[in-house]
Amino acid sequence: MTAKALQQGDLVTVIGLEVHVQLETDTKIFCRCSTASADEPNTNVCPVCLGLPGALPVLNEAAVEAAVKIGKAIDAEIPEETRFHRKNYFYPDLPKNFQITQYDEPVCADGSLEVRVDGDRREIAIERAHLEEDPGSLQHVGGGIDTADYTLVDYNRAGTPLMEIVTAPDFRSPTEVRAFLAELEEVLEYLGVFDAERDGSLRIDANLSIIPAEEIDGEDTDEIGEEALAAANRTEVKNISSHKGAEKALAYEETRQKNAIQRGRAVEQETRHWDETRGITVSMRSKEAEKDYRYFEEADLPPLQVAHWKDEIEIPELPTARRERFQAEYGLSEEAASKLTSTKQVADFYEDVAAEFDPDLAATWVADELLGELNYRDMVVTDIDHRLDEVARLVELVATDEITTKNAKEVVLRTMLDEGDDPDTVVEVEGLGKTDGDAVQAAVVEAIEENPDAVADYEAGEDGAINFLVGQVMQKTGGSADPGDVNQLLRAELEG
Ligand SMILES: [Zn+2]
Repeated sequence: MTAKALQQGDLVTVIGLEVHVQLETDTKIFCRCSTASADEPNTNVCPVCLGLPGALPVLNEAAVEAAVKIGKAIDAEIPEETRFHRKNYFYPDLPKNFQITQYDEPVCADGSLEVRVDGDRREIAIERAHLEEDPGSLQHVGGGIDTADYTLVDYNRAGTPLMEIVTAPDFRSPTEVRAFLAELEEVLEYLGVFDAERDGSLRIDANLSIIPAEEIDGEDTDEIGEEALAAANRTEVKNISSHKGAEKALAYEETRQKNAIQRGRAVEQETRHWDETRGITVSMRSKEAEKDYRYFEEADLPPLQVAHWKDEIEIPELPTARRERFQAEYGLSEEAASKLTSTKQVADFYEDVAAEFDPDLAATWVADELLGELNYRDMVVTDIDHRLDEVARLVELVATDEITTKNAKEVVLRTMLDEGDDPDTVVEVEGLGKTDGDAVQAAVVEAIEENPDAVADYEAGEDGAINFLVGQVMQKTGGSADPGDVNQLLRAELEG
């Protein structure tokens, strides 16, 4: 959404995000424990991620590589040198009583990401993105966070590499936030540094404030000065774990604050917890200020020279560029190009099929038929990417007119996915090969001979009777004739 002119009485929504993304590395950020999900709690642990005395962290190169890839994708500055700090606080999920994170020298700064909302483009500034370690996870037993009988701690997650991405307060609606998160997820997946399917891989804290137009010293909704921003009370909403969740939580919070302001009540500056089940935000105890964390340099990790990594690390073509290329190169609509670039795997798959046949036909088959059938079965394109040849063959069977489109969609594709058969086998077993012209013609003549009443109706001008005859021919040919062709053959025969 582009900036809107300010009107007297407007209440402008201002939102900024802190997005925590789990980086997809084999091992943790400061030790060699696996990051894979484990069946048993506290099994992927060692003295380092348990914070035992004397254990020293060693930085995982793969985590830094992923961070630099993200930095390049968001067009951020990668400094000459980056540094780690300790953020001190006590919580049971943090065995060292401090979190190793980055403070004033993050690995990425001053980037941006362009998002599309309702056809408009909007650039969201990203102030910084830094590396840190994930804490362990807590399981509250017998109640919620405040009412549980007891709480279990699992340190399997402790030390999983995280990237915290901090945006400027550039969002003006919850819808924009959702679009941004969806775009960010796509970019991260293209980079191969993120797995959206992993539980807890995306966690969002959002701050939201409502500013009356009268207090804004600008012309439109984008021109909000720092003073107006600083003067507004904001709430920080925690515990958001998806883009849909973010939109819902922030829409709730937006309404809550606007209602308070319209009734002349002050909005309190506080931290609120998004209760997904109840669909509301609830007040939590007030938040610590930054100075309370007593950040100081992590002496066990030397400063890291990262500038040269930027030149050495390659990143693939990103979703926006690929969408635009698909439109230009294959003549696809924006909608089709968006669907086909939704993940790198789908885009690669499409390009492989398009290389064999008409890109338009490939787009229809991959974007509409294949993705729809996969989605219905809770499958993704990577589940069948070893069967690329079979999908290409299916498109070929349709392109060369060997089977009808209807049979290709409703029988061959579905049987391929459900039974794992290749398309030629399905065509043979189900007898779907298009009946040749002579056989169809014979069936047409037969249908006319066997149904004098329908023929009489047709000749009396009742055009619907032709549909009955088409049905008869389709039955005789086992559904393997083209209904349009049959219709024409019948008319020719009846009128000839
Ligand atoms: Zn460990």
